[in-house]
Amino acid sequence: MIVYGPVPSRRLGHSIGINNIPPKTCSYSCIYCQLGRTDRMQVKRREFYKPEEIFHGAELKIKQLNSKNEHVDYFSFVPDGEPTLDINLGTEIDLLRYFDIKIAVITNASLIWMDDVKEDLMKADWVSVSIDAVDEDTWRKIDRPHGSLRQQDIFNGIIEFSKTYKGTLVTETMLVDGVNDHDACIKKVAEHLGVIHPKKAYLLVPTRPPAENSIKRSSRESLVNAAEIIRSISGAHVECITGDEKEEGFFFSEDIVNDLLSISSVHPVREDIVNEILEKRNVDKAVIDDLLKRDMIVEFLYEGKKFYRKNLKNKQKT
Ligand code: SF4
Repeated sequence: MIVYGPVPSRRLGHSIGINNIPPKTCSYSCIYCQLGRTDRMQVKRREFYKPEEIFHGAELKIKQLNSKNEHVDYFSFVPDGEPTLDINLGTEIDLLRYFDIKIAVITNASLIWMDDVKEDLMKADWVSVSIDAVDEDTWRKIDRPHGSLRQQDIFNGIIEFSKTYKGTLVTETMLVDGVNDHDACIKKVAEHLGVIHPKKAYLLVPTRPPAENSIKRSSRESLVNAAEIIRSISGAHVECITGDEKEEGFFFSEDIVNDLLSISSVHPVREDIVNEILEKRNVDKAVIDDLLKRDMIVEFLYEGKKFYRKNLKNKQKT
């Protein structure tokens, strides 16, 4: 499903997800990616879906939510890959304006140096750009970018965008233990944030099973230390998202299986949340066993908790 949710988000409230990119089509292959390794690495923008298809998906979802009196805070482009690879992003944002709901795009910013990407992002109300590291070596190590990308172009693009963008610009920095959470690396990120002046600088840690099993989230102490450094050097308002908060508010319609597949394709869902939803709806847990048996979803253990994720390699339709 191209349009899914709403899913709860501390940053965006209840947001309807727009999945405008096919599975794992990205310009990065981040070591912490919760979708696994990127198998379709690309930097050339192209059409993946017709904008009308996305509009109609959104229309259906809004009707469904209205009939249940569910409110929505945002449409958020947070797909299975990098949203700005979609050449129709700007047109899709224009079409979604019809619903009078704010629009957010969460991007790794790797293509923001391109004028057409900047123009498309200008149309959104809220844009989040990733800045995991500013030194070239750490950037390559953590984000594993497409070979043609140049970090300096990306940073110049972010700075240029920040000067003219009228919406809310925030940054995301994912902290991985021993990779980008040491003082020298954080100080450079902080200096950069001091130039961009984001409304908020979010510090995150991997909270779902990452692409590389060997990586670990930064410790609480490192997170607090990083927040302090960034605050004092950049003056930015820093917020840490550790994922320890209880995730409430996932919206599941009567079609629990389809909803679980579309949400978990971009957002692995913890077992306890799935169980709670099944219980509320009086649905037997056998549906999960069946999805596992049919290879439609896979289960993962991460930090002692079980998660379900759509099996992106299985092309079978439900
Ligand atoms: S985390 Fe985002 S930017 Fe990184 S590989 Fe995954 S989809 Fe791409």
